[in-house]
Amino acid sequence: MLRAILIKLSENKRLAQWSMKNALSRRVAQRFVPGETLDAAVAAARASNAAGLTVSLDLLGENVYTREAALRAAESYLAMFDRIATEKLNGNVSMKLTQLGLDLDLQLCEASVLRIAECAARHGNFVRVDMEGSPYTQRTIELVQRVRARTDAMGTVIQSYLRRSEKDVRDLLAAQCRIRLVKGAYKEPADIAFPAKSDVDANFVALMKIMLPSGIYHAIATHDPRMIQATKDFAASQGIGKDKFEFQMLYGIRGDLQRSLLKEGYRVRVYIPFGTDWYPYFMRRLAERPANLTFFLRNLFR
Ligand SMILES: Cc1cc2nc3c(=O)[nH]c(=O)nc-3n(C[C@H](O)[C@H](O)[C@H](O)COP(=O)(O)OP(=O)(O)OC[C@H]3O[C@@H](n4cnc5c(N)ncnc54)[C@H](O)[C@@H]3O)c2cc1C
Repeated sequence: MLRAILIKLSENKRLAQWSMKNALSRRVAQRFVPGETLDAAVAAARASNAAGLTVSLDLLGENVYTREAALRAAESYLAMFDRIATEKLNGNVSMKLTQLGLDLDLQLCEASVLRIAECAARHGNFVRVDMEGSPYTQRTIELVQRVRARTDAMGTVIQSYLRRSEKDVRDLLAAQCRIRLVKGAYKEPADIAFPAKSDVDANFVALMKIMLPSGIYHAIATHDPRMIQATKDFAASQGIGKDKFEFQMLYGIRGDLQRSLLKEGYRVRVYIPFGTDWYPYFMRRLAERPANLTFFLRNLFR
C-alpha cells in the first residue's frame, strides 16, 4: 500500500518541484544521489573504484518533452564516455530511453541510442539501457535488438516482476545480449506483473538460472541477501566462475554487502546516478524500503 502511494507520488510534478528546491530533501536525497553534476558522480566513482568496485554512471532524467531536451541528454551521455576515459575510471554508463525522446520521436531516440552505443564501442566500453515501466517494455527490447544488430556494446535490463520476462530473457540470450536482472521498481497491474513478492523472488531465481549458464557476462542486480545467496549457490553448483558475472547494487544501499561480496572474490558494480532530476529516482528508493521513509521524515521534522 505504502509502496503504491510512494510510487504514485514519484510521478507528482508539484511535489517534484517542491522537493528539488527544498534544502532538506536535497540533503536526504544525497544518500542515494551523490550530486547534481558529472563532477560529483566522477568523485563518487573514483572513491568506489578505490574500494574495488566498478561503477555505472546514470544521468537522472525521464520523459523529456522537447527534441532539444532529448538531444541534450544524448550529448551528455556521449560526453560521459570521454570523461570516463580521461579520468581512467573503471566504469560504464546506464541510460533511459524516455530521456532520449522515446515518447516524442522513435527515430530521433534510436539515432541517439545508436550514436551512444557506437561511442561506447569506440571507447571499448559498454552502455546499458535501463528498463522503465511496462508501457515501454516491448519498445525498449525491440529498439535494443535493432541497435545491437549494428553494434554489440549495449545491453539491457529484465524485471522479474513481469510475467513476460522469461520469453524476453530467452529472446535476448538468443541474440547474445548482456542482461541486468532486477526485480522491478514501478507500479504494475496484476495481469502483467506478479503481485506477491514471493512470486517475484521465485521468478528472479528462475531467470538467474536461465541466464548464468549462457556464457554471456550478465549482471545480478539486487540488495536481497536471499537472491544473492541463490546466485552464489547456483554458480558454484554449475562451475560458473566468480569472474563470469557481476553483482550490481545502487549507490548508498547495502555498502556492507558490497564490501563482503568483494572480499569473497565476486565482482560488484555500483550504479551511480547524478543530475538535477533526482526526484522520481529518490521516491522509488523510498518506496522500496519503509525505513528509508522514516529516515526522511525524521530529518524533515527535526
Ligand atoms: C544496479 C541496479 C540497477 C537497477 N536498474 C533498474 C531498472 O533498469 N529498472 C527497474 O525497474 N529497476 C531497476 N533497479 C531497481 C530494482 O528493480 C529494485 O527495485 C531494487 O533493486 C530493490 O529490489 P531488491 O532486489 O534490492 O530487493 P528488495 O526485496 O526490494 O529488498 C531486499 C533488501 O534489500 C535492501 N534494500 C532494497 N532496497 C533498498 C533501499 N532502497 N534502501 C535500503 N535498503 C534497500 C533491504 O535490506 C531489503 O530488505 C535496479 C537496481 C539495481 C541494484
